[in-house]
Amino acid sequence: MSVPSIKLRDGNVIPQLGFGVFKVDPEATAELVAEALRVGYRHIDTAAIYGNEEGVGRAIAQSGIPREELFITTKLWNDRQTDAAAALDESLQKLGLDYVDLYLIHWPTPEKDTYVEAWKSLIELKKAGKTKSIGVSNFELEHLEKLETHTEETPVVNQVELHPYLQRWRDLDAFRAHGVEIEAWGPLGQGKSDILEAPELADAAAAHGVSPAQVLIRWHLQNGVIVFPKSANKGRIAENFDVFGFELSEAEMAAITDLDRGEEGRGGPHPNEFN
Ligand code: NAD
Repeated sequence: MSVPSIKLRDGNVIPQLGFGVFKVDPEATAELVAEALRVGYRHIDTAAIYGNEEGVGRAIAQSGIPREELFITTKLWNDRQTDAAAALDESLQKLGLDYVDLYLIHWPTPEKDTYVEAWKSLIELKKAGKTKSIGVSNFELEHLEKLETHTEETPVVNQVELHPYLQRWRDLDAFRAHGVEIEAWGPLGQGKSDILEAPELADAAAAHGVSPAQVLIRWHLQNGVIVFPKSANKGRIAENFDVFGFELSEAEMAAITDLDRGEEGRGGPHPNEFN
């Protein structure tokens, strides 16, 4: 099975489908990431705050997969924005890696007003070879514009909450106009919403002989979004990767897009209020 990839503005290439490990128990992480790698995932999304970078690192080390075939993302937590170089060194040590493929500012935390300083550090960390690409997460347009005003470099991705109940295409297209690719977090609704029970997903699932989760992952992929659903269940880890044998029609895509609830559909905090 071949996963499509997206060429980032800096020339690096990211697999469009990966495996996310938010809330994956640190004790179980190595085994689940090993399973994901066995199934064929090559893109893993973790973060310092998840507390499971060591497990990700163990799975990578034991996999025998050449480093250059993997795409590893981690993130700078909010209390380290003025201390990014040391924070990334700690992450690299836990991961057992010399570099990550993508390092993200996890949240802008606008009240702290330190994300521009953090971004300047990430630019230096990229120059030093500790990360191949740099990006942001949970950034609003105003935060992106502030980075662009104060530095020479624009993030290559913005990782945001994105699923049918919260879509914000106008904002996301504006990011894309700046050359920023969109990564979806909570792509399946995090198990908190009833999105996987929507009849629109069930209809498409029945038509293609797949599950609602597979339909939803396809919807993200066909929207050109980078996506890394999480599961702690080995059967579902395989299921979520098996999404390249069918294609949603325009009508099926549109029916899911119609589920948008705007701000009311948000499941996590608003980036301007998370400090
Ligand atoms: P998700 O939308 O991927 O949902 C995961 C949940 O969906 C599972 O716990 C399970 O309940 C359900 N699920 C998964 N596969 C299923 C299947 N095949 N059938 C039925 N149910 C299924 O939520 P997430 O983990 O929060 O988001 C994905 C990744 O995004 C995370 O693991 C993490 O890497 C990243 N993330 C980033 C941020 C951020 O602030 N940048 C925040 C949250 C998550």
